[in-house]
Amino acid sequence: MSQLTNKVALVTGGSRGIGAAIAKRLADDGASVAITYAKDATSASAVVKAIEATGGKAVAIKADGGDPAAVAAAVEETVKTFGQLDILVNNAGTAIPKPFAETTLEDMDYVLNLNVRGVMVATQAALKHMKSGARIIMIGSCVGERVIAPGLVSYSSTKGAVKMFAQGLAREIGSTGITVNNVQPGPIDTDLNPAGGDWAVSQKAATSLGRYGQVDEVAALVAFIAGPDSSYITGANLTVDGGTNA
Ligand code: NDP
Repeated sequence: MSQLTNKVALVTGGSRGIGAAIAKRLADDGASVAITYAKDATSASAVVKAIEATGGKAVAIKADGGDPAAVAAAVEETVKTFGQLDILVNNAGTAIPKPFAETTLEDMDYVLNLNVRGVMVATQAALKHMKSGARIIMIGSCVGERVIAPGLVSYSSTKGAVKMFAQGLAREIGSTGITVNNVQPGPIDTDLNPAGGDWAVSQKAATSLGRYGQVDEVAALVAFIAGPDSSYITGANLTVDGGTNA
């Protein structure tokens, strides 16, 4: 028996980057996994095939995190497909880096709706199906606590909101036995934040370890929080940032 045998997980934004690594890792640990994506059906399908190739069960659901009806429907489809929901990983999110003075109303709405409202809607829908021992896991950011560079004002505001959402919800639903935690990555090499990009030099320099993190290093922490050994951890902000916020 693996630690997540007979568990069902939903990973939002699980077609690429950190979310894809989380989906594969939870499947390796025995969970049946649903992933959502907004645009890239080919990448989503590749994640499902990779999981199935190792004997796991997975499904990809097209659901834009900025669309509340689609997000709630994805939760229902997960339960319909696999019969239950034990782990929600609120990973879908993005940044539109630019000086705050140049940030448009559309930019603000986009990141708020995806990074905050979508997380709240998915969580509310998931909680209807969850029982004691279930796990809600946010993918926040180290910049939700400390902002190391200009250009991230709207993004870091959303991740600060995610942090307080996790803490408040953990407090409110503690008696249900469902835990709520916030994993806060630092610079992780993905399409969103490539280690070879213009911004990489200053982000790398801001870490204590002097390097970008890999998606599997975030997935390993999420797997621990998803598993039985994290039973007394809730309302926590767990930073996996190579020491950026040290
Ligand atoms: P990527 O852009 O590399 O991947 C994003 C994933 O989310 C893709 O699967 C994408 O699928 C999906 N996605 C994007 N927009 C939407 C949407 N509107 N609705 C549903 N799914 C969507 O991002 P990362 O893997 O780098 O980031 C994942 C999470 O980690 C985000 O919340 C991000 O803020 C956070 N994070 C990332 C860090 C980093 O350095 N990379 C650092 C700290 C936090 P598709 O394009 O097909 O829609």
